[in-house]
Amino acid sequence: MLHRALNLVFCCLFASVTFAADKPNVLLIVADDLGYNDVGFQGSKEIPTPNLDALAAQSVRCTNGYVSHPFCSPTRAGLLTGRYQHRFGHENNPMWLPEDTKQGLPFDQITLPQVLKQNGYTTGHVGKWHLGAHPHFHPLKRGFDENFTALGGGHVYFPGDKAGPEYLIPLDRNGVAEPQKSYLTDQFGDEASAFVQRHAQGQPWFLYFAFNAPHTPLQAPEKWLAKFASIQDPNRRTYAAMIASLDENVGKVLAQLDSTKQRENTLITFISDNGGPHLAVKGKGMTNFADNTPLRGAKGAVFEGGIRVPFLVSWPAKLKPGVYDQPVISLDFFATAIAQAGGQVPADRKIDGVNLIPFLSGENKAVPHDVLFWRSQGPKGHYAARMGNWKFVRGGAAAPELYNLADDIGESKNLAREKPEVLAKIEAMVAAWDKEMIAPVFAGPQQGKAKAKGPKSKAK
Ligand code: CA
Repeated sequence: MLHRALNLVFCCLFASVTFAADKPNVLLIVADDLGYNDVGFQGSKEIPTPNLDALAAQSVRCTNGYVSHPFCSPTRAGLLTGRYQHRFGHENNPMWLPEDTKQGLPFDQITLPQVLKQNGYTTGHVGKWHLGAHPHFHPLKRGFDENFTALGGGHVYFPGDKAGPEYLIPLDRNGVAEPQKSYLTDQFGDEASAFVQRHAQGQPWFLYFAFNAPHTPLQAPEKWLAKFASIQDPNRRTYAAMIASLDENVGKVLAQLDSTKQRENTLITFISDNGGPHLAVKGKGMTNFADNTPLRGAKGAVFEGGIRVPFLVSWPAKLKPGVYDQPVISLDFFATAIAQAGGQVPADRKIDGVNLIPFLSGENKAVPHDVLFWRSQGPKGHYAARMGNWKFVRGGAAAPELYNLADDIGESKNLAREKPEVLAKIEAMVAAWDKEMIAPVFAGPQQGKAKAKGPKSKAK
């Protein structure tokens, strides 16, 4: 009997030690304004992405993967909190106003790196921040141990290139301005790779690796431009070259994971923060010449082209590669990562995302979400919802639209009149959801009219 009891104690101790050692590293890779059809694993023949395709081959590819907003900053606010960002009024891009204490991720929100730190993780952010310019919004104040970032909504790619003031802000390393050294995508790739190497031993880590590519300005290295010489349109050629560089730098980080023997137990997610800005708005300063085929719409829209994105989840130790077709959303990343870290999501507030691993592994056959919601431009703006294969869209005061994505992924045949009962059901759910949301707490810049101010030398 005593022997059995001791065995039990030993087993429990052993299990506990094993569990701590098994906590995966967490790597979140985000592209900026990447077109749905502009990477190899999504079907692009024009832009080869061998490193992302190799990652896809080791991943669960989520074919109905969404982000919670059709543009940059709100998606990132949802990503780092696990909550529809409308719950706390983060529905617009913050302007670059270092004196403004409101334009950024509201300070009462609990972030993913804060929770992971409490569970023994080292946390780092490399790349685009875009969650507020005031020093109290700085990554080091929001749960990150280390950062090497472009703090605004974008950045020039080559040192000395021309752009608006926000895009010329010095890079920031742990609160101190630092000169840009090389093509920015390469520099971010080097920094992310160095983080992975630096923390190969010891505590598990979380790295939020957010490329600003292929967001404008369209600037690419000659070696990649030469590779895409066959693309006639010089803008599309530059965009393709920017993605090739992004792909090369994803490969750099994956190779580092392999060489430091961390790949097996690293949970990797790859998404874009929103759909590609569309060719249809060419010349208006927003497009980067992306291709969202076969989806309708683009960045800024709540049609699929604005919110449905390339979406990979890889964890060699626990997930078999494959395809997952049920709707999932970037909000899920929060609960997914915290569950694997052995932590608990905050209990004092509604968390909208769920732990995806049981669904992606096949252990849980139910659907992660009965319905997903979108709202852009405030309570009088654009709404969308996805319930099963039904997609609801309502733009401002216009009549609501209904599409069946099962045979109409391009949202071309409005079934609102033919399916009034479905429409009414979803509309009621949208109204109920909307009651839980608040109005935006800060207004975004009007397109092309943002007044940016220069940086402070220390952002800490
Ligand atoms: Ca974006």
